[in-house]
This record gives sequence, C-alpha cells and structure tokens, in this order.
Amino acid sequence: METLSLKRDDLKAFLESCEKIRRVQIPVAADSKQYRFMPMAEAGAGAVALDCLRTMLPPKKYFFPPEESLYKFDGSRYLPIEPEIEPFLLFGVHPCDLAGVMITDRFFSRNYPDRTYWIRRNQAAFIGLGCMPDSKCFCASTHNQYVDSLYDLFMWDLGDRFLTYVRTEAGQELVHAAERLFAPSTEKDRHDCLEMLDKRNAAFTLKADLDDLPQIFDLSDDSSTWRDIASACFTCGKCAMVCPTCTCYDLDDKTDLQGHGERIRRWTSCFFRDFTRVAGDHIFRDKRERRIKNRFLHKEHGYVNAFGSPSCVGCGRCLAVCPAGINVVSLYKKLRSAAARRCGSCQKPEAPATA
Ligand code: SF4
Ligand code: SF4
Repeated sequence: METLSLKRDDLKAFLESCEKIRRVQIPVAADSKQYRFMPMAEAGAGAVALDCLRTMLPPKKYFFPPEESLYKFDGSRYLPIEPEIEPFLLFGVHPCDLAGVMITDRFFSRNYPDRTYWIRRNQAAFIGLGCMPDSKCFCASTHNQYVDSLYDLFMWDLGDRFLTYVRTEAGQELVHAAERLFAPSTEKDRHDCLEMLDKRNAAFTLKADLDDLPQIFDLSDDSSTWRDIASACFTCGKCAMVCPTCTCYDLDDKTDLQGHGERIRRWTSCFFRDFTRVAGDHIFRDKRERRIKNRFLHKEHGYVNAFGSPSCVGCGRCLAVCPAGINVVSLYKKLRSAAARRCGSCQKPEAPATA
C-alpha cells in the first residue's frame, strides 16, 4: 500500500481540494465537550476538530438516518422513495467507527439488501484518522483498534504531519487532485509512526477480556447482575441511539382516508417496552431485565453466531452518555465473576507466581 506524508499545515488545503470532488463531512466541536459530523461547506475547513475522539452520533446517521420516508402510497401502489445524495466523504473516522460501518454493512446486506441504506452508503468515501484513547475507549479489547479495510485513505497523526495510507482508487483520486501537498513517506515517518503506535497501545486503560463472552452469557442467564442493571437503567435508549452498530428501527404507516400516505422508518431501541408490542397487545419482553439482557445478548452472542464476531466495537459512546453511569465493561466483568463463582472451571487459570 502506498504511504505518503501530508504536512499538518496543508490539511485545510487538502480538505478544500477534496470538497471539489465529494461533499466533505468533518467532525466539529458542538460545544466544549461534544462533537458532531457536519458538512464542511457549512462549518469551514478550519473548523475540523482533530482532537475529536467520539462524535455524539456515529457515521451510521449518514446511511441509516434517525428518520426517513421509505415509500409513498398513492391509494393503489407503493412508490419507493430514492434518497437524493451526492458522492460524499467522511473525514476523521476513527478505527472503531470504521469497524462499526463494516458491521452495519453486514446487517443491511443479509437476506434482502436494504435499498435506502445502500443508495446512501454507495456514495460514501472515508478518510480514517488515528486517535489516542481516553478512559472510555476499549476498542483494543474488541480488536478494532486498527482496521485494514473500508477506508479510502487513512491518516496517522504524527504531530506536524500525517502518515497517509492510500488504499483505494477513490483515495488515489483525492490524493491526485492535491498531489503537490503530498510527499512520499520517509523512513523517519514510518519510525515515528511506530513509536506513536506503541504509545497508543499503552494508552488503553479500559480493558476487558471479551473473547469468551458468549460462553459467559450462557452461564449468566439468571445472574443477579441483570437485575442490578435493570434497577439502575432508566431505559432511556440513549446508549442505543449513539451506538455505531445498533440498528433497531420501527416502521410507521401514515395514511389519510383515501389511502394516500407514506411509510416512515425511525430509530428505536430494543430497550423500549413498546419495541416488542404486537397485535393483541402482547409484549414479548415486558420486563426491563429481559430487554436489557436481550440487547447485550444480541450484541455479544447473537452477532457472534450470525456473523462470527460481536457487534460492540468499543467506541465508549454508551459509557459517555448513560445518565445512570452504566458501563458495559463493568457489566461484562461482573458477569464473568458471577459465572466463575458458579463454575470453577470457567475461571481462567491464574498466572504462575513469579519470584
Ligand atoms: S443510556 Fe443508560 S440508562 Fe439509558 S437505556 Fe442505556 S443503559 Fe439504560
Ligand atoms: S455498545 Fe457502547 S461501546 Fe460498544 S459499540 Fe455500542 S456505543 Fe460503542
């Protein structure tokens, strides 16, 4: 893979060059603590927030918006609505969020590829950006601290410059349009990058052993930990809304008496009591404890069965927004301890004592 070097002072000019090819979306500061992706045409290239670790909403909002109209009815027929979307570029997507897009891609591809998701998604290009973890990041535990696919360009921040990986033709086109700004990477660039990556690996303070969670969940079905979490959780759904891989939605038909109307899709959460309400007013998961267990089982067990890996990428958003202070890493640790207490053989062998 080609690697290039871009001076930090030239980033603005590079983004402005990209804007001539694709509508660029950048992370900007919404206030002193929060960030969001927004069009660079509105914010200006100078507003790009390189220190943004996690935006309030992840990139999924571009492909699977919080609310969209899927069809119109004219009294006798369904008329599909085609999202009108120009080619766009998401700049500054961190590895965990790139991994999140790979997961929603898989979800919206199975059985029947989702029409509107893929219309939007096929217009997207990505410039990934390396980051330095804070106390809420645990993507190293989910094995998403690096990604080798999906992005078109990926930049590692080396302070005064960015080591830039060119992965696709779309990335090549962006570089080519601004080639005077790029130089071939040097031995020093690569050395500095490796040094920075060592620091980054050491900076992960939130760690969890997640690889055998499906087994731990099987052993924890009636654990009191679920009841404890259920009594603390407000079921506000914030954690699901901000999660890059949560994809629960509701469909709602709005019609008039002549049968004209539209079908609306909206984000929802399997934490909500109404989520499993069906005809006859039956609710499959009436108890909060069952809904909570379902969400985590789906992410950490159901996804492993269906796709071979869990759907939590370790971005830390749910930890950052939960008004009840619920922390998924602590939850998993508590489930593991409870399972280990019940079944000694599940306990990992302790490391031999050293002299
Ligand atoms: S954000 Fe916290 S309180 Fe709200 S539903 Fe999620 S876990 Fe429960
Ligand atoms: S469950 Fe939490 S940490 Fe995991 S991907 Fe979703 S928001 Fe991020």
